[in-house]
Amino acid sequence: MSYVNRVIKNVQTRYQDQPEFVQAVSEVLNSLHLVIEQNPDYERAGLLERLVEPERTLMFRVPWVDDGGQVQVNRGYRVQFNSAIGPYKGGLRFHPSVNLGVIKFLGFEQILKNSLTGLAIGGGKGGSDFDPHGKSDREIMTFCQSFMTELFKYIGQDTDVPAGDIGVGAREIGFLYGQYKRLTGLNEGVLTGKGLSYGGSLARAEATGYGLVYLTNELLKNHGSSLAGKTVVVSGAGNVATHAIEKCHELGAKVVTASDSSGWIHDPNGINLATVRRIKKTDRGRISKYLEFHPKANYTEGRGIWSVKCDIAMPCATQNELNAADAEALVKGGCLAVCEGANMPSTPEAINIFLKKGILFAPGKAANAGGVATSALEMSQNSMRQSWTFDEIDARLKIIMADIYRDISQAAKDFGEPDNLVLGANVASFRKVAEAMLAQGVI
Ligand code: NDP
Repeated sequence: MSYVNRVIKNVQTRYQDQPEFVQAVSEVLNSLHLVIEQNPDYERAGLLERLVEPERTLMFRVPWVDDGGQVQVNRGYRVQFNSAIGPYKGGLRFHPSVNLGVIKFLGFEQILKNSLTGLAIGGGKGGSDFDPHGKSDREIMTFCQSFMTELFKYIGQDTDVPAGDIGVGAREIGFLYGQYKRLTGLNEGVLTGKGLSYGGSLARAEATGYGLVYLTNELLKNHGSSLAGKTVVVSGAGNVATHAIEKCHELGAKVVTASDSSGWIHDPNGINLATVRRIKKTDRGRISKYLEFHPKANYTEGRGIWSVKCDIAMPCATQNELNAADAEALVKGGCLAVCEGANMPSTPEAINIFLKKGILFAPGKAANAGGVATSALEMSQNSMRQSWTFDEIDARLKIIMADIYRDISQAAKDFGEPDNLVLGANVASFRKVAEAMLAQGVI
């Protein structure tokens, strides 16, 4: 059995209870057969075994008191996966579906995504099974303070710099940062996604969604097309989705959908972003309320968003939200390109269909890397005690996304499959991490 297959098998056997982690590892390692065969040193150095094993895994109790005076207990996680190319960097997710396998899959993907940005950041991820939905601001603050009271011992501006993810936005980052500062007395860039008044970076909130659209445009440009005039289906209604919608509209495309975990809206006239923001960001309500403002739109409870006919699909909600049947529906509807805003939103079966049917496909670790890249720019600004302008950061983001596209398409070409950006992204990101790990010895 080949080295790659042995490592995959070992991960499958050991982590049967972590299906998302096994899925992420299998998808990546399966792209690396040729690279590994070309570099026999990797096996001798146990490189893959080290790559799939986090450097450190933290799990901790998070006790807090709800508004009724009842003590609640959640579980907190921080997986410090790989620091070969820089301090651990990756978001915190607060969602009831969070468990160790989910955090490990996200952390593993993060190593490679961060490598693609070209910046000096290693991979990590964390979070909790805490559900922010329906909680008061006081409960959110109490939870965040308790979470940070344990986490602060293990993070720092030069060691591990967490950020937001699902369920962790500006409000939560503010509470987490305040508690870190209170416990350590340090005003340092230990978290990214901070508010502008206390060390945050302009364009950080926009960066993942904008970056996704910049990369999509780059992909289309290289295939003789552009976003202008295209119909786009976006899932989600959070940070990534809303900024993707904003930039798509700015570049002349029409986004006709938005969704949350309850269901989805189809507005053939184009999604009204101000309404989505008012419902989801200001009122923290359900997307179904959209109909109260735009009665001609349709709302469907549950799944089915990918049955809407479109030129481009951008899954921006969560992992495995787009399966084989959804992929078939997109192909049937004439979809040209699928670009992932979320982490691992397409199942392996769906990706195979896209690749087989010649749909342009940009995987999340490349397409959504603009967020973490801008987080690294926030770290630089914090270290320099400077604030750069929005235009300056946006211009850097555009260059970073164009460079990522260039690198992954070049790697795909090098390995004889120019249209396989899954291969390109995995190979391009892995080569840099592998080189750094080899150079630093057995650690
Ligand atoms: P938000 O919490 O801002 O928004 C998440 C959106 O997805 C919400 O609309 C939410 O609906 C929906 N959603 C969450 N879980 C599910 C589910 N199980 N089924 C259907 N819909 C769901 O998160 P972000 O926008 O920040 O993150 C979205 C994705 O992008 C995630 O995969 C994240 O890892 C990835 N990502 C985020 C980055 C960032 O900078 N924020 C950077 C790179 C990747 P509801 O309101 O009902 O919960």
